[in-house]
Amino acid sequence: MRLRFLTLLRCPGCRARLALARSELQEGDDLIEGELACTACSRPYPVRKGIPCFVQGEDYAASFGWQWTRFAHLQRDSYNGTHLVRDSILRRSGWTPEFRATTPRSWPTCAARW
Ligand SMILES: [Zn+2]
Repeated sequence: MRLRFLTLLRCPGCRARLALARSELQEGDDLIEGELACTACSRPYPVRKGIPCFVQGEDYAASFGWQWTRFAHLQRDSYNGTHLVRDSILRRSGWTPEFRATTPRSWPTCAARW
C-alpha cells in the first residue's frame, strides 16, 4: 500500500486515523509488509503483500474467496443494474465521485469494477 494514502484510511472499529506501526519491508512509498495501528484504540492491522487487512481471523480469505467465486457477477453494479456497491463504498469511505475521477490510480480495484 502506498503510505501517502494512509490519511485516507480509518479504523473500522472507531473511525480514528491509522498510523504506520511497523515496517518490515518497504520499497519507497510502498509498504509491502508491516503493520498499521489505530491512533485512538491501538487496534493493529497487518499489511501483507501490500494489502492492509481490516478483518481479523484466519477464515477471512477463504470466506471472501468463496463469496467472490459464487457471487462475482451479482455484486457488480454494472451487472445487476444498481448502484449498491458504489454507494456503499462512497458512504463507508467518505470519498466522493470527484475523488475517483481525479485519482484513478488510487481507487481500489473493487471500486473500479462497479
Ligand atoms: Zn480504532
